[in-house]
Amino acid sequence: MSNLQGMTLLDLFRLQCDGKASPEEVLQELWAVTERLDPVLRAYISRWQEIPAVTQSEPVLPIALKDNLCTRDYPTTCGSKMLMDFRPQYDATAVKKLRNAGAVFPGKTNMDEFGMGSSTENSGFFVTKNPYDITRVPGGSSGGSAVAVATGMVPAALGTDTGGSVRQPASFCALVGIRPTYGLVSRYGLVAFASSLDTIGVLARTVEDTALILSLISGKDPKDSTSRQGFTARIPEDLAISTPFTLGLVKELCEGEEVEEEVKQSLDSAVRTFENLGYKIQEVSVPHIRYALDSYYVIAPAEASSNLARYDGVKYGYREMGGGRGKKKEGEQVTLEEMYAFTRSKGFGDEVKRRILLGVFVLCSGYYEAYYQKALTLRKRIADELLEALQSCDALLTPTSPTPPFRLGERLDSPLKMYYSDMDTLPAALAGIPAISIPSGFTRSGLPIGIQFMGKPFDELTLFRISYAFQEATGLKNLMVKG
Ligand code: GLN
Repeated sequence: MSNLQGMTLLDLFRLQCDGKASPEEVLQELWAVTERLDPVLRAYISRWQEIPAVTQSEPVLPIALKDNLCTRDYPTTCGSKMLMDFRPQYDATAVKKLRNAGAVFPGKTNMDEFGMGSSTENSGFFVTKNPYDITRVPGGSSGGSAVAVATGMVPAALGTDTGGSVRQPASFCALVGIRPTYGLVSRYGLVAFASSLDTIGVLARTVEDTALILSLISGKDPKDSTSRQGFTARIPEDLAISTPFTLGLVKELCEGEEVEEEVKQSLDSAVRTFENLGYKIQEVSVPHIRYALDSYYVIAPAEASSNLARYDGVKYGYREMGGGRGKKKEGEQVTLEEMYAFTRSKGFGDEVKRRILLGVFVLCSGYYEAYYQKALTLRKRIADELLEALQSCDALLTPTSPTPPFRLGERLDSPLKMYYSDMDTLPAALAGIPAISIPSGFTRSGLPIGIQFMGKPFDELTLFRISYAFQEATGLKNLMVKG
């Protein structure tokens, strides 16, 4: 059996069920692709060094995992030197559920350290490259997952989305990426960045694969008290039901000079496709949506500063006694305070330190009300406005990112410029509503462009139906860079 590289997860599953390919053949092919492409693109932080013997008789479902999802006895680094040698003693619930469904995990993918970034350039280890143009970023923070899927190293991957980290890399690599409603997928075993925003999402090459994996990982979990309910659908039957829906075009995110011309054009042509499908398109206004950035970049760092306090060199993770910083000489006593400082200075990268400082600042007593409290008020306002806009339509339509993939290094010296990459994805995160990114086309120079739909809480099914209708109408599915 040749050319398994371009197959979707469902294709691979059916082939194995029909006896047309063995689990070994499937893994062999994906492994060969990975061996060929990964040394250049660097999607994985750790991966199989050889193909393991398949012990199960059932078909295998190969799925890559972002490296902030705990895997039992297998490295989970979060893209950070701090956790370089960390091996969790348990699987994340999502990972466990996939394992029980027959999934195998060829590796853990590269990411911005602890999920903080939009380009995967903040990884504590190395940079991942966009396969459509290796001088450009794959998006982030789940950039490694996106690249592994976009090149056929694996048919699908899990990512995590705190403020856009599944959707933005999906759009930069011509994939489908969903951030589920907060509470649909258990966060147990997802290493926390900003707990009120963190979600586990899926990246795949078709809407069907995305929906399938979401149905496997979702559901209430006693280990995460914020988890609420699961998602189920018959695939593809339930996705193909498309009563023409009403879409709300979010005015504030579709115009403005920061939205690049080719992104606007792609959105316009998506609107025409929907009109041809009989959809109703109406313009909606979400007046405070532009302040999502201001709200998110206070709340997320505040929560991060608290979540990351645990990395102190004591119980687990990296410890630095001073040698690495050259401040202490051999034999000299290091105090506990110094050990904390050395460990955190060396173990964390610049962006993580920036966020911790910012977070501690907005939480300190003199500024709590001026910054943190205000950001929470804004968050509530944006969520209310989004939910209100969703009363008059089935989903909201926006670009996924104001620009196509940008160049490596281009935004590294301007954190604010990097933060602006997230303007379209932050609102859904603040509101806790589901949002999906799907490919909508390419720029003239061949760079992927994506569009985003935001939906009502726990109404992932409508997002999948709209996405499926678009995918079938345009043929923009199972897109892949072959190498
Ligand atoms: N880019 C955003 C940030 O840096 C979102 C990251 C994420 O979703 N993990 O915080």
